[in-house]
Amino acid sequence: MQYRNGKHGEKLSILGYGCMRFTRSGSSIDIAKAEKEILEAFNSGVNYYDTAYIYPGSEAALGEILERNRIRDNVYIATKLPQYMISSRQAIDKYFNEELSRLRTNRVDFYLMHHLTDIAQWQRLKDVGILQWIEGKKASGEVKNIGFSYHGNSDNFLKILDDYDWDFCQIQYNYLDENSQAGVIGLKAAAEKGIPVIIMEPLRGGKLVNLLPESAKQAIKTNSRGWTAAQWGLRWLYNQEEVTVVLSGMNSTEMVLENVKTASNATAGHFTDEDFAFIETLKKEINAHEKIGCTGCRYCMPCPKGVDIPGIFRCWNTMYTESKKNGRSQYVQTVALTKEPSFATQCIECGKCEKHCPQSLPIRQKLKEADKDLRPLPYKIAIAVGRKYMMRQARDKNKVR
Ligand code: SF4
Ligand code: SF4
Repeated sequence: MQYRNGKHGEKLSILGYGCMRFTRSGSSIDIAKAEKEILEAFNSGVNYYDTAYIYPGSEAALGEILERNRIRDNVYIATKLPQYMISSRQAIDKYFNEELSRLRTNRVDFYLMHHLTDIAQWQRLKDVGILQWIEGKKASGEVKNIGFSYHGNSDNFLKILDDYDWDFCQIQYNYLDENSQAGVIGLKAAAEKGIPVIIMEPLRGGKLVNLLPESAKQAIKTNSRGWTAAQWGLRWLYNQEEVTVVLSGMNSTEMVLENVKTASNATAGHFTDEDFAFIETLKKEINAHEKIGCTGCRYCMPCPKGVDIPGIFRCWNTMYTESKKNGRSQYVQTVALTKEPSFATQCIECGKCEKHCPQSLPIRQKLKEADKDLRPLPYKIAIAVGRKYMMRQARDKNKVR
């Protein structure tokens, strides 16, 4: 494992563990599996673990695993204040104390204002006394580093960056997002101020691996470097010295081992001109095929009407990156024939989802287009028949009981 510097002399592993995507078993996290994966990472030198108040069950799972294995003091915990739920100073304490209790710890090493998108949100926090709160927590040692995670545009990022003496920040950044959100402008500005930058969505929620168009997959296979799709994404980031830690939501030991391998030998400045040119080729292939730039982050969820927004967009993209048949058949399985249907047509256009989308997608409009494409008439009929059959089966089962 390689390490880069935190602001106060911490040696941070350049691969961080993103705890948002632990495997779930039913409605809860599969703790045994998550524990195995975390220990694999820990034993390979990963010392940065990122979670958040709003990731369901994640803080509690991480706290339990670290405590049981007595490794709390050997790692850095990063978690986040749900700033969008804060309306008073008391609320900050309430959420923070709950987080300490879930994490079974007396301190947070890296504490972030979660999901800022503009300076107004930071100002609102200042109005309820966040600056005095931070001062108090730093003095007591309950918070070691203060930062923010960010999803707005680069202008607002720079304003927030300049407004406070931050210890670190976290941005969405990958080769497709070089010039969106905080982007390379934000990355360089933070680094110039000596602020470590943590990277989230390095593979765009897996899109730069699993959902690549066939042509891009082929290009990767035949490239003489022999790197996998994930390696191309991570190496592009590690190549930049301004990047401190790259978070990966790892949910298999294979994924942990592959990422660890990359993080142990990808150094800043190792890309050649040919490598950069190859990344441009991949970008072209991806952008030529995708219908919508949804990262699958799920910040738009839950929808009050039960619309599976990221699920619908994923299937829609699959129609164009893989094949129409694949996209529609995934749609039938994951959206149309689930117990509670989650069709785009259930949308009442309340607009709630669009306020939370870090990619600023016009979700309501795009849902309509996606639905038309995913459910042509023969599919509509087949889905209606399938649902009738499912309901009859469920009724019969209840009668037998
Ligand atoms: S606009 Fe539609 S999809 Fe979005 S939250 Fe409201 S009902 Fe759900
Ligand atoms: S629509 Fe936006 S908020 Fe929802 S999953 Fe996609 S990118 Fe995330």
